[in-house]
Amino acid sequence: MKLYLSETWFRKFLEGEENACEYEGFYNEGESWVFLPLPGSRNASLRMIREGMKTEFSDSSSRVSAVVGTDGSLACFASRDGAIMEIDAELVSPSHDVYSRNHGLLETRCLQNKTVFIGGCGSVGSTVAAELAKAGIGRLVLVDPDRLTPPNICRHQAGLQHLGRLKVNAVKDLVLSINPFIEVETFSEDMCGTMEAIDKTTRIAETCDLLMCTTDTDNSRIFMNDLSLGSGKPSIHAGLHERASSGIVQSVFPGRGACFLCHREKILTEARKENGNLAYSVENSALVPIQPGISSQINAVAEVAVLKALEILTAIDSEEGKPSGFGENLTFIKTREKPDPGRDGHLTFSAAHFRLEASEKCAACGTNSSLKQAADPLLFS
Ligand SMILES: [Zn+2]
Repeated sequence: MKLYLSETWFRKFLEGEENACEYEGFYNEGESWVFLPLPGSRNASLRMIREGMKTEFSDSSSRVSAVVGTDGSLACFASRDGAIMEIDAELVSPSHDVYSRNHGLLETRCLQNKTVFIGGCGSVGSTVAAELAKAGIGRLVLVDPDRLTPPNICRHQAGLQHLGRLKVNAVKDLVLSINPFIEVETFSEDMCGTMEAIDKTTRIAETCDLLMCTTDTDNSRIFMNDLSLGSGKPSIHAGLHERASSGIVQSVFPGRGACFLCHREKILTEARKENGNLAYSVENSALVPIQPGISSQINAVAEVAVLKALEILTAIDSEEGKPSGFGENLTFIKTREKPDPGRDGHLTFSAAHFRLEASEKCAACGTNSSLKQAADPLLFS
């Protein structure tokens, strides 16, 4: 059994004036103690005292004592079967230790000062949020008006203990359990439901580096495309087609290449041809942007969106000033083979990449569109 203690809490006590301090944490029955600033209900306590002070030991394994020496030494004790035992303790610095294995693979440091807006915190959005947290993102804005229901659980990153909670709150806790130092802002209204919500979302988007559209309503998808074009912020649109047999991840760089609406109808028509007439399909259901599917199909699409997001976020600070893979802005992901008529196809994975040019006829970004585009000066200077 091991005890993990926040290095920050330890240093604060060591350098402070107090002789004793109490911290709350988590006792994983018979396995470990964790004392870190994490969300969730705590079931353990740690009493930290200075060397030479007297303390009373509790009979409960969930109450632990730590003795701190003037030389910075740390000795932890717990009671077990009526006897006092010393526990192996390790200091943890989440902001540093958690990302130690990303070094050399990913510019974690440059992600620390980036903000990503995640519109839609369902199955795709929760995966995107958790993955960005693991990559080292500094700030997230989570937007979703819905609450978690039992059918959500088999595809959402949050478990049953979060039933009935706002998705933004469940995802916030998920993100903070990976790194408690990520700044998370939540907005639990329909982002385009009222003028006030539109104004607020527009203001929030201005503070972000990248907009991720992972919503399941057409209105919010179109709104987020407008938000991207209007603010000049790059955006990534991730969505699934009929029964999650395929999905797309589209990057929109305002002023460069296609926006989300430029070729939307054609993409949906092609997806429907590719997916065939599934046994359980409802007529025209390919036009519904988010469809039921199993978690691994949905996650395949979500993970491609995360890779694209990381590429854009790390490129913003690069000398070239734009992502190297800019040429391809649409990835079509297939997770099920085209079935024979009346049957389900096999599960699979394949991806094809395309470059979509802007359409002059596009209602959102074409020559007749009323929306003024602003190219992001950081990304395209
Ligand atoms: Zn367009």
